Amino acid sequence: MIIVLRSDASENSVSELVNYIESFGLGVEKVIGVSQTVLAVLGDTAALPNDIICDFEAVEAVKGISEAHSLAGRASHPCDTVIDISGKTIGGGGFALIAGPCSVENREQLFTVADSVKKSGASFLRGGSFKPRTSPYAFQGLGGEALLLLSEAKKLCGLPVVSEILDKSQLSLFDDVDIIQVGARNMQNSELLKALAKCGKPILLKRGWSNTIKELLYSAEYLMSGGNENVILCERGIRSFDSATRFTLDLSAVPVIKSMSHLPIIVDPSHAAGRAEYVRPLALAATAVGADGIMVEVHNDPPHALCDAAQALTPEQFDAMCKKIFAVRKAVSSCDD
Ligand code: PEP
Ligand code: MN
Repeated sequence: MIIVLRSDASENSVSELVNYIESFGLGVEKVIGVSQTVLAVLGDTAALPNDIICDFEAVEAVKGISEAHSLAGRASHPCDTVIDISGKTIGGGGFALIAGPCSVENREQLFTVADSVKKSGASFLRGGSFKPRTSPYAFQGLGGEALLLLSEAKKLCGLPVVSEILDKSQLSLFDDVDIIQVGARNMQNSELLKALAKCGKPILLKRGWSNTIKELLYSAEYLMSGGNENVILCERGIRSFDSATRFTLDLSAVPVIKSMSHLPIIVDPSHAAGRAEYVRPLALAATAVGADGIMVEVHNDPPHALCDAAQALTPEQFDAMCKKIFAVRKAVSSCDD
């Protein structure tokens, strides 16, 4: 952490500040420049309350506050994290295509969708098991039965599978799931994050619709500080004043997160759009902006889907979208410096 001192700071006010920092067991080095004097704080500054430091009379500015995301932050790990899941990677320049139904409904639905998305180029199969629904009267998912069907589908189609957990008590049912999803509603469920930190599986962490990027990184920090380095971040839309779409897809989160963190960041255009017709343009935009992948909902019979019917792509629409995505990737890479 670097603290820039006010040019008129008195000796006394600087000593007060230095004594305070040293009381945390940290070292302080004074660097006197031509126009400014700065203090370099040496050691792990995580416990130092930044707000209190900013309030000291001698302080003009504090730099490096974002380093509180010390494990998820780019500074501690300049290279992109690449997560290997059964030979398929996420992060570091590749592009993960995660597709499948919002909810697993039955064997035929899941297997039909799994087979078709694989043929179109999907690298992972998604399928909701425990569903976090806004209304208690809405379909809540098949739970453990869905996870058994996902295991079967994985054996048949060979794609690693992604499913959402709602509570740590469900963890033992997720043995055969390759990536455990933490949904938007649970992004700040710290007890769940602490349990998942110890589960030994990659976590797909979705941004809450009212959460800042910093808060998303702090949630990643819960997983990482507990021992799980395999965290994939996901932008899925934030709540805005506009109801024309279900949420507002914050595409700026992709380059911002890429500059702040080494973790892979993917985009879910389905939950942001809320309508199938908007999914493709948003997915293409996410591809162009540099996302490490996308996750989209695909259903073999969207009008009869038990959950999120309006935003589900048909297998044919998914196939057409994939072709465009590959073209966008090619176009973007051909204009890279
Ligand atoms: C989902 O992916 O099925 C889901 C419920 O998404 P979110 O948590 O982003 O609403
Ligand atoms: Mn859904």
